[in-house]
Amino acid sequence: MLTGNHCDTLYTAEYVVTQNDNRDIIRKGAVAVSGDSILCVGHSDILTILYPDARRVELGEAAILPGLINGHTHVPMSLLRGFSDDKALMDWLTQDIFPQEAKLTPELVELGAMFSMAEMLRTGTTAFYDMYMMERSVFRAADKIGMRAVIGESVTQYFPSLTCRDAEAYFELVREQSFEWMNHPRIRQAVVPHAPYTTKPDLLQKCYALAEETGALFGMHLAETRGETDTCLQQFGKRPIDYCHGLGLLSPISTFFHVVEANEEEIALLASTGSAVVHNPASNMKLASGAARIDDMRRAGVCVGLGTDGPASNNAQNMVREMYVASLLQKVHHLAPTACPAQAALDMATRGGSATLHDPCIGTLEPGMRADFIALSLESPNMQPVHNVVSNIVYAATGAETILTVVNGQELYRDGKFLTCDYEALRNEIQQAVTWVKTS
Ligand SMILES: [Zn+2]
Repeated sequence: MLTGNHCDTLYTAEYVVTQNDNRDIIRKGAVAVSGDSILCVGHSDILTILYPDARRVELGEAAILPGLINGHTHVPMSLLRGFSDDKALMDWLTQDIFPQEAKLTPELVELGAMFSMAEMLRTGTTAFYDMYMMERSVFRAADKIGMRAVIGESVTQYFPSLTCRDAEAYFELVREQSFEWMNHPRIRQAVVPHAPYTTKPDLLQKCYALAEETGALFGMHLAETRGETDTCLQQFGKRPIDYCHGLGLLSPISTFFHVVEANEEEIALLASTGSAVVHNPASNMKLASGAARIDDMRRAGVCVGLGTDGPASNNAQNMVREMYVASLLQKVHHLAPTACPAQAALDMATRGGSATLHDPCIGTLEPGMRADFIALSLESPNMQPVHNVVSNIVYAATGAETILTVVNGQELYRDGKFLTCDYEALRNEIQQAVTWVKTS
């Protein structure tokens, strides 16, 4: 326990779910915050004595837990939520999504990003890993609203893109942004080719080299569908993960999204190279891609996080809902109620998120960690009684129980109010913007 440092605010609640190595849950607990970090976690009575002058926030019948981490999304796509559903992935992309995306502007991208971030803050998410186009707008939005984020401009072999006239312009943009956002306390850049089927092998390798050169992370959609596997086998004679390994893309700075199609050998490759995987169960179910072998991956030592995917393919940015779906999908897929228990789902959304964002300072409530945490009210009928608070969080909560969201020591959402954005104005703007997107 750290003492002797100044505590700015002491948050108290009926439960503190630390998610530390022992998965300690403290009854009548408290979290002491100093600046952007957690100073101490313990019993409320003791911390009250230690920090008598701290500002107090008494959350009552609630659970404080680490902020949930959305490991894969495309935040600007809230503009297209519900625009097209219930289609096969390639038809959905080529017939409906890509033509709409061609009309986007930096202003619309920023608006869509702000809207998704509001949804995440409202449902207990503090950090996310984003990839899309015109991401300069997403950097700006995340900086403004106060969330923690890994942000990458997505690239394919098809130029000109909405952002860049050619690959050289893309590399320049990444280099520029690496200086612009260097040492930002909450925001880090990633180099993110869209997928192996949209990006040629030499460009994939150049992207990986660029990530290493600029100190960025590397991410990509990978092994999402059976169709992708078949195409990759036809074109390159290898399955997607094996193919990417051959290109040198599997490494400790790499995070791969979806990874539905992975056999034993490929799971072993992901583990031995230190690559992280983000599971997107709702998107995989909605697009009928299949069920990723996350229990096998976790047993093999792969770092597995959880993500929503974009608001057009989920369609929510709600990690509480995603934990529930993740657990249930594994159970029905394996016909085993023991698959992906509640604790495993919570681990993926917190500790796994830390691994997939390659940020060791988030994902648990412990001294020295960044002060990224949320509080869920336990007062509503679906959260009572509390036999097991983790069970209620994963299986009974909806996300609407969120009463507090804190990132880097700053309160961003509390008791129904957004503290760093004007939600009413945002809602009006998105209604106008959607009309424009559809009719222009
Ligand atoms: Zn995606």
